[in-house]
Amino acid sequence: MRKCIKCGLDETYTGITFDEKGVCNYCNFYEKHKFELNDEVALELKFQEKIEKAKEKAKKNNAKYDCLVGFSGGKDSTYIIYQLMKKYKVRVLAFTFDNGFSTQYGKDNIKNALAKLDVDHITFSMNDEILRKQYSMCVKMMKNFCSVCFHNMHYYSYLFAHQNNIPMIVNGRTIGQILQCADSTDRIEPFETSKNLKDFEHQMFRGLEERTEKMGKIEYLKDINDIEAVSYFAYHKISEEETMRFLEEKIGWKRPEGVSGHADCFAHSMAEYMSIQKYGYPVRKGELAVLVRKGELTIEEAENILKKDWENFKEVSEETKEKFYNRIGV
Ligand SMILES: [Zn+2]
Repeated sequence: MRKCIKCGLDETYTGITFDEKGVCNYCNFYEKHKFELNDEVALELKFQEKIEKAKEKAKKNNAKYDCLVGFSGGKDSTYIIYQLMKKYKVRVLAFTFDNGFSTQYGKDNIKNALAKLDVDHITFSMNDEILRKQYSMCVKMMKNFCSVCFHNMHYYSYLFAHQNNIPMIVNGRTIGQILQCADSTDRIEPFETSKNLKDFEHQMFRGLEERTEKMGKIEYLKDINDIEAVSYFAYHKISEEETMRFLEEKIGWKRPEGVSGHADCFAHSMAEYMSIQKYGYPVRKGELAVLVRKGELTIEEAENILKKDWENFKEVSEETKEKFYNRIGV
């Protein structure tokens, strides 16, 4: 099977092409923009400018908050709220989507973080029948359901921010998630930020959002065009391990035991299982390749992590399946 000589991604990966030297389009994009993507001083300044602009706008509009942050209780969102409040003196509203998939571990971390951070917090839920329909439709059509949470989380973030004059939404997408399919700077941070929901979702759906809108399947809040979506980790370099250590020390955050990542969502193993069924590889494949490009992992290390994910998720228990399908109502 054909493989990129730089990052190890193979020909089965979404949207991949190779040049005559055997280097993939994602590596060539990264190489071209390497300096800009790793200039930590310039990125920090860029981030600070965005923060100051949001503060001014919030003040002018008499808003109670400078920014809204989607808060899952996981390490990334907790870390972002901590830094925005303590380091950047931002007035934060934490915003949690109760999707019915949260684990006790996630709930305990949310409770602890809220008590320690002294941050205002709203949990919202939506009509469960509609939500279940969305999940089951996406599972049937695309063997995927994370996109439903992603869309609803940001749909209601934009709506709520708009209604309350909040000028900025900060999210915890990792640099791996942001760059995993980046082969142009179009709507990709840190090059370009989005001011509306549809542009923001482009980085996740890469064109699918246009088609679903045309089909009338998804509504994109067309009249809301002035709220900037900012991915904190597009401007700040920190490893997962450093984030966890920081939070353990500062607020007594608890790291997940066993399988790494996404311990706050009981459906995560189903998401991995479906990815393997549909694409033949685990969810993190593209994200890990970004770390290889950045020189933070070798190809072998990334392959070993993926192999473990593959072993962990190539099968899921009947119990997990039953719990999942009960939740989404298929
Ligand atoms: Zn590559």
